[in-house]
Amino acid sequence: MGDAPLEGLKVVEVRSDPRGNVDLALLRELIEEHGPRLVGLMLTNPNTLGLYDEHVEEVLRLVHEAGGLVYGDGANFNAILGIAKPGEMGFDVMHYNLHKTFSTPHGGGGPGSGAVGVAAHLVDYLPGPIVVRDAGEMYRWHMPPRSIGRVKAFWGNFGILVRAYTYIRMHGAEGLREVSENAVLNANYLQARLRGTYPIPHGDRTCMHEFVAQGILKDAPGIRTMDIAKRLMDFGMHPPTVYFPLIVPEALMIEPTETESKETLDAFADAMIQIAEEAREQPELLKTAPHTAPMRRLDEVRAAKELQLCYAPACS
Ligand SMILES: *Cc1c(COP(=O)(O)O)cnc(C)c1O
Repeated sequence: MGDAPLEGLKVVEVRSDPRGNVDLALLRELIEEHGPRLVGLMLTNPNTLGLYDEHVEEVLRLVHEAGGLVYGDGANFNAILGIAKPGEMGFDVMHYNLHKTFSTPHGGGGPGSGAVGVAAHLVDYLPGPIVVRDAGEMYRWHMPPRSIGRVKAFWGNFGILVRAYTYIRMHGAEGLREVSENAVLNANYLQARLRGTYPIPHGDRTCMHEFVAQGILKDAPGIRTMDIAKRLMDFGMHPPTVYFPLIVPEALMIEPTETESKETLDAFADAMIQIAEEAREQPELLKTAPHTAPMRRLDEVRAAKELQLCYAPACS
């Protein structure tokens, strides 16, 4: 996506509709307008709102009919492991965010790894060389016949790949499906518990492994998502992703994962509900949070503007 302008292409955004799906009417319009020059569509499904697109097959059909390819962003693949196959949905290309779905570290600066898979009709174009196994169990290099060539760092982050592979082998097919089932169940449980306290724009739908709430409280208009996130730290909890996705004001993206138990989920929901009460009764408590962390509220604007990236402990 980031390279589209380099290739002389233009990126056009397709909004979502009121149910949080790709807006089909708008997509049809855009295809009409750009039809012959359409290269493809990049789609995150389940999407960043934590919703499985209800018309994903129609979206794919429209783009394919107009001669485009569909690139899947696997960012939310951990909702559908062992349940749905992007290849069968019709995606032509998809990357797996191994650092999200398969246990490899990313928080704290990486490295990440995004293994790319393609449908059979694109195999000949893959970058190479690729390792293939012959019938005789011999490994050799293979350059796909119509390869786009060798890409930078095509080995990837090897250690990260080994870790993802180990995670996959340890869980097995059934275990991976269970990961997704529990991640989705956990997110829906939290969504149900928080629905009455915080606005959840698409809270009437079953969510996937995450949902997006808003740090907006009717009786505490001065309180923002950042205050709620900082107060959560006083409860010993790592705040969820905030202010993302950008299309939801005061977003609080809640993604519990499969590893939380009913007890820890309840502790989180209880804390969120207590914070909403505090917001009404003693908003200062939220505004000055965190109180128990070694550093108090940081100046985020200054931190971003006067960036100091340094390796040594004593540098300034
Ligand atoms: C996580 C995420 C990204 C960022 O991906 P990284 O591989 O972590 O850099 C981009 N888009 C969406 C929808 C995501 O969920």
